[in-house]
Amino acid sequence: QASSIFILLKLKCESLGQGSFTRIFKGSKIDIRDGERHVTDVLLKELDANHKNCWEVRAAAIVTHLIMLRWSSLNLADVMVQEFVKFGALDLFLKREGSVSVSWKLDVAKQLASVLNFLEEKNITHGNICAKNLLLAREGDASQGSSPFIKLSDPGINVTMLGRDVVLDRIPWVAPEVLEAPERLELECDKWSFGATLWEIFNGGQAPLQGLDLERKLQFYETYKQLPSSEWTELADLISQCMNYQPAFRPSCRSIIRQLNSLITSGTSRELIAVKKLQ
Ligand code: ATP
Ligand code: MG
Repeated sequence: QASSIFILLKLKCESLGQGSFTRIFKGSKIDIRDGERHVTDVLLKELDANHKNCWEVRAAAIVTHLIMLRWSSLNLADVMVQEFVKFGALDLFLKREGSVSVSWKLDVAKQLASVLNFLEEKNITHGNICAKNLLLAREGDASQGSSPFIKLSDPGINVTMLGRDVVLDRIPWVAPEVLEAPERLELECDKWSFGATLWEIFNGGQAPLQGLDLERKLQFYETYKQLPSSEWTELADLISQCMNYQPAFRPSCRSIIRQLNSLITSGTSRELIAVKKLQ
């Protein structure tokens, strides 16, 4: 709004770590509206020295704006300001929590599929979908009837601007066709990444192909390998449909949502059986 002023403060001690090309800090945004101060937590992504003045980040900020609805993300010179999402990245959350219910995971997967559907309708390719870029705004508590709530974070620097090693390191999230031609980043690529992210969600936030060096990661794609499949055959099937080496054969968002919905039914009964066994 034209009439509002705001001040950004970087909280010096609260470095939250390092992104691909960014240093991440927690900060505060102080709005002065009608003579009153409103303070909100924000997340500041500061470009590291080698990537300052990279205009691609500006484009990323626009996508962020579209994705993180109800929040105006700002791009001030080399700093991106985002909503501070309370429970942080999903991979870390899953690792920390250990036992998260099947229905919780399915809920998260369904939300991601809806985001994918939304982006597809707008003809926007994200290009960097992974559990690290899913942020948990609400934990959700089944006993209170509340579900988790996730937000998809920004894709960062466009893949065409990245060095080969950085792209190789994104195996198995990056779609194989992108390795051959980064400009081929199309909607189907996000479906592949969705498959890899689904795998992560159902494997406790563990990174797939962890520990493989870049050469081995490349071999994985060159030999058309698939991630170790889940015992839950319907889930394994959905992941392998998404991670089809031929982009045209990956399922539509509608089909992904439909399959997730039928997983929800079978997943809940699986959980009930598991609980009964424990009792
Ligand atoms: P990339 O472009 O590869 O995604 P990045 O700069 O976005 O890199 P990440 O590695 O995605 O950096 O994020 C680093 C960490 O910062 C995450 O693990 C998460 O804990 C935290 N983080 C990122 N964005 C937010 C946010 N909006 N709110 C709260 N925490 C966040
Ligand atoms: Mg990120």
